Amino acid sequence: MIIQPMVRNNICLNAHPAGCAEETRLQAERAHAFSAKLKALGSSGRARPEHVLVVGASTGYGLASRIVAAFAYGAPTVGFSLEREPQEGKSGSPGWYANRAFQALAANRGLSCPTYNIDAFSERAKELAAQAARDAGKPYDLVIYSLASPVRMDPVTGTVYRSVIKPIGRAYAGLTADVFTGKIRESRAEPANDTEIEETVKVMGGEDWELWMRHLSDAGVLAPGARTLAYSYVGPPLSWPIYRDGTIGMAKKDLERAARSISSFRPDLGLKAYISINKAVVTRASAVIPVIPLYVSTLFKVMKERQIHEDCLDQALRLFSERLYGTRDLRYSLDPEGRIRLDDLEMGESVQAEVASRMQRINEDNLRDLADIDGFRQDFLRAHGFEVPGIDYSAETGSYL
Ligand code: NAD
Repeated sequence: MIIQPMVRNNICLNAHPAGCAEETRLQAERAHAFSAKLKALGSSGRARPEHVLVVGASTGYGLASRIVAAFAYGAPTVGFSLEREPQEGKSGSPGWYANRAFQALAANRGLSCPTYNIDAFSERAKELAAQAARDAGKPYDLVIYSLASPVRMDPVTGTVYRSVIKPIGRAYAGLTADVFTGKIRESRAEPANDTEIEETVKVMGGEDWELWMRHLSDAGVLAPGARTLAYSYVGPPLSWPIYRDGTIGMAKKDLERAARSISSFRPDLGLKAYISINKAVVTRASAVIPVIPLYVSTLFKVMKERQIHEDCLDQALRLFSERLYGTRDLRYSLDPEGRIRLDDLEMGESVQAEVASRMQRINEDNLRDLADIDGFRQDFLRAHGFEVPGIDYSAETGSYL
């Protein structure tokens, strides 16, 4: 069987097993190379993660965080995600293959890595995480919450909530690019109603993060001084009507509320919750959010020209080595709202001015000069195991399994 990407409306419907595995291996290799750099810097005496739980561990920021914890810092990790298992003739989701590859690579290095394919919003997932810490005889000192989900079932009532990406108050119209055809068109989104806002906050807000941390705290599986992080995004003003000031922005505000609430749970334990505002990268859902493909492609072009481009793994490496386990106390690198900023390079004044100026001039004729649309498309395909260096895509792969 020869597997080619099946893309419809900027969504990739399949994944390449060997490509996803290789993509994970390449990230692990980069993280491992970084561990040598850490040693050379004489950082062996520095603080490091001892036992890391990642919720949303199979792709994007969660996977990169888990890879850095394991392969740069040698930490045992526990990962939760919800991925589609392959069936004969139908591919699994990318994270399914990434998890499998991660487990093989970690086992090779003797690193413990229990990995659960289960709905993280369920009570059962939280019980399993607590049990994994007890089995390991090691409490968690770092919990990373990196879920991106369109749907959540409330574990108590059984009600199903769905998240939407919509503006609030008025309709949004903005340019968007089809990264496969290079066509630019206007996309419109109607404003969300109150139910849609509430449901998005239920799914992508902080309630479930609080439930996780409450459960782990009550189960006694958090180490003294444990830290927990959830990821967020701010982005440029042109995206605010659809992002920061829209439904998803409401959910992100709720995460900030949850961070304050979690930090007040266990003052005796010193448990602290942080929001980390990360850079825009290409993950599986990026191509369907209006304006994002065009903005991110332009941003990539500008950041690559200035040699300050970063992907998920670069961001996770910087998070661990310069923020969480750096020489400077984390407190001194927080923004006035107490958040970790990994979007500092993206949001730099001169980068933003250049991106904004290009976005005003961009059209289908100059798209490739002003924006890195091919880089976006390639990252998007790589997130599904396609166009990964070293993989022979003309070769028979056996099957999706
Ligand atoms: P992603 O889609 O690559 O990863 C989402 C993860 O959540 C996957 O591991 C998936 O299996 C897991 N997941 C989803 N539903 C689940 C469920 N019900 N149970 C268990 N696992 C489930 O997403 P991402 O882009 O890495 O986003 C992660 C976080 O980072 C989000 O909070 C997002 O807002 C934030 N963030 C993303 C960007 C970006 O540009 N992509 C930028 C800044 C912040």
